[in-house]
Amino acid sequence: MNPAEPKAVLKDRGAARVRSGHPWVYRSDVVSAEGEAGDVVRVTDRRGGFIGLAFYNPKSEISLRIATREDEPVDESWFHGRLRDALAYRKSLQIEADAYRVLHAEADRVPGLVVDRYGEYLVVQVGSAAVERRLGWVVPALGDLLAPAGILLRADSLARKREGLDTAVRVLSGEVPENVIVREGPVRYRAHLWKGQKTGSFLDQRENHLLAGRYAGEGGRVLDVFSYAGGFALHAARRAASVEAVDSSGAALDAARDNAGLNGLANLSFTRKNAFDLLRERSDAGERYDAVILDPPAFAKAKRDLPGAIRAYKEINLRATKLLAPGGVLVSCSCSYHFSREIMEGTLRSAAADAGAAMRVREWRGQAADHPEVLTIPESRYLKCAVLERL
Ligand code: SAH
Repeated sequence: MNPAEPKAVLKDRGAARVRSGHPWVYRSDVVSAEGEAGDVVRVTDRRGGFIGLAFYNPKSEISLRIATREDEPVDESWFHGRLRDALAYRKSLQIEADAYRVLHAEADRVPGLVVDRYGEYLVVQVGSAAVERRLGWVVPALGDLLAPAGILLRADSLARKREGLDTAVRVLSGEVPENVIVREGPVRYRAHLWKGQKTGSFLDQRENHLLAGRYAGEGGRVLDVFSYAGGFALHAARRAASVEAVDSSGAALDAARDNAGLNGLANLSFTRKNAFDLLRERSDAGERYDAVILDPPAFAKAKRDLPGAIRAYKEINLRATKLLAPGGVLVSCSCSYHFSREIMEGTLRSAAADAGAAMRVREWRGQAADHPEVLTIPESRYLKCAVLERL
């Protein structure tokens, strides 16, 4: 033990939570803590029993994030080891794409660090002061393990503001172009690394995108609502007769149009409209589709948003269900952690009942495996994707 190491003592409730396998300690569960934002602190229970080493940020509601439960130095080789482990796991997944998540923060045991790979380039997101201060160790480790042509820091998330960190987008090493063309199974798309949503793409939907290709029946009519750059639409268009991508953002649809061109797909159309209005109009008009995809932004970002979010999910799912031809498939997603699988199931059930539709459950899916779920961290399971077939 390093005698100069700052220390934190947890209340019994905080200690029990960490011992149950959760890495977060809320400010209200801390008896005392030394040090400043970005320090690695030694965490014990009230009796002095060692719990682990944590990333400290007094400005954050989650003031301690456990980095390790071993009594080991959190140094350059520690970061290298965590990244190496994360990469070994990705290799084992045999991912059919050259864009994927290399390291997924707490789920890969590095609180507040996300690393995404887009071909030769890496995009890093930092959500903890401790990682921010140690980027000088992270960057060489990434260089050693992946030899990227460039590494971009996207430090522009809302989570950073909550942590009291400033926002910036800048190159950490090499050179990083504004966009790069990557492959996702049979589809190619352009990821806008500097300005796109998240780090440039919705990588957590990759496996579900591939699945959309399978569920979009040969020769069918498909509606992809909340399409962004066509994540689902492009795969569906390889088999369907026609796919309409709907989004309220013109920039998203420009990117989708560009991606359709990259894949030589001429059966896509693009509609800029509020999804709620479009779904209501189409269902009132009695339109029918062989597949409808719903992938809205998180309607419940916090627990208090839940009642409104349930109404919104119910509305879009009710309309989408009504739009299905017999045998038609609804691919319904939610990325809101607070809108749990159980609540989502209830909402879909009530939408089906109101639409008078019998819906066969084809699959319940989650986020892609490179965004791993950890059993003892319920928040690590956030994305749900139900595939329902109208009988
Ligand atoms: N399906 C995409 C990701 C969707 S992200 C993929 O797999 O890659 C959510 C999208 O919903 C964003 O592009 C956003 O512009 C769009 N959006 C948000 N609110 C909307 C609304 N009310 N109507 C239509 N689109 C909306």
